[in-house]
Amino acid sequence: MTLPTAQELHGLLTRLFPITRSITGDGVRESLEIIKGIANVEVKEYPSGTEVYDWTIPKEWIITEAYIATLDGKRIVDFQQNGLHVVGYSLPIDDEFSFKDLQSHLHTLPNSPDAIPYRTSYYKESWGFCLAQKQFDKLDRNARYRVVIKSTLKDGHLTFAESLLPGTSQKEFLISTYCCHPWMANDNQSGMVVTSFLNRYLAQKKKRRHSYRFVWLPETIGAISYLFHNEQAMKNIEGGFVLSCCGGPGRLSYKETFLGDHLMDRAVKLAFKDKGIEPWLRPFAPDGSDERQYSMPAFRIPVGTIAKDKYYDYDEYHTSLDDLDFVTGENLLASFEMYVDAIEILEQNRVYKTLMPYCEPQLGKRGLYPQTGGALNQSANADKANMTVEAEIDAITWMMFSADGSNDLIAIAERSGQPFANLCSAAQKLVDNGLLEEIEEVEPV
Ligand code: ZN
Repeated sequence: MTLPTAQELHGLLTRLFPITRSITGDGVRESLEIIKGIANVEVKEYPSGTEVYDWTIPKEWIITEAYIATLDGKRIVDFQQNGLHVVGYSLPIDDEFSFKDLQSHLHTLPNSPDAIPYRTSYYKESWGFCLAQKQFDKLDRNARYRVVIKSTLKDGHLTFAESLLPGTSQKEFLISTYCCHPWMANDNQSGMVVTSFLNRYLAQKKKRRHSYRFVWLPETIGAISYLFHNEQAMKNIEGGFVLSCCGGPGRLSYKETFLGDHLMDRAVKLAFKDKGIEPWLRPFAPDGSDERQYSMPAFRIPVGTIAKDKYYDYDEYHTSLDDLDFVTGENLLASFEMYVDAIEILEQNRVYKTLMPYCEPQLGKRGLYPQTGGALNQSANADKANMTVEAEIDAITWMMFSADGSNDLIAIAERSGQPFANLCSAAQKLVDNGLLEEIEEVEPV
């Protein structure tokens, strides 16, 4: 299995960053082609005009040019300089305006005067530009301006990518991210990057236990369209992750599933604990990203999100300040590793039953216990090797006590406080020594 380096993660981020994406169009296609170089994806499309539950897939938006110029031809706002300058889904225009008439089409953030805001108008026909308040303040109030947007809205497609990685268990997990935001590194090129490398990690994993359904979709309309076209398959999904905003400098956090104590939540919380990181837990709310759709009554897929600077919470959110300096490769790697640890806990989780339920087995005669009595728990002897033996004995003892066929390793880790990995290796040793057997997980009724 190939683990990415921080440089590799930031390299993909840098390639995806300056692409003019929207919920449809060539920017999404170009981005998904780049992702194909990392992840094992199939690019698919649904036609414009398709009715999906209460929504209709919109026309495809194609944009080649958008600028505001002075009448002597000097471009003062140009979307080639920054894709956020034009409101997403702007209609075409080529006309002259007084400042007063232009003003209602300009968006700024007075409280963050250096930032260009991110604005879209997918479902209401309009046009507009976004610019920094500082730049807006400098515009000549008495001048006239030439405004050009070369865009078309035509019947086309909504484009997305899917990757199905089959496993040997009956369980399938969803890993979903959104690929519609342009020119913002944390929201959400970070999610696209980490999802792509997680896909590579799991695609290369030998003896993959569970099945994984990966999707890179335009937010909201993409998830709704996908649910509509895969309704039955989605009803069989155990749980999942929505990857969003996972590369900022902020503290690692976890937005819980709507259940709060589902297998996904428990695996993530153990992953945090075993890494020695106190998770910043955020209870579920029906807001944010595509967890809104997956959690709805017909589907009820418990999905969680590990984030570093989650949407809404950081000053740079939905602005041009969410750039390639805001997101580092190291921060992307920290989120990637936390996702991998949680997924590995799901992969390694097993149920065991003891073959010696009446008393403690005599570990010494099986070579599972130090032969010199009294050596354990003595601080004078607590060198590194002894500590490791102690940890192993602890894990073995907890396994022999807990393995009555009703607890999985996740439950035993929660109850005992033992690191999940120690319990896994202890369980394997006990199986090898004929003291435990792995049994099929009993589904709760
Ligand atoms: Zn967003």
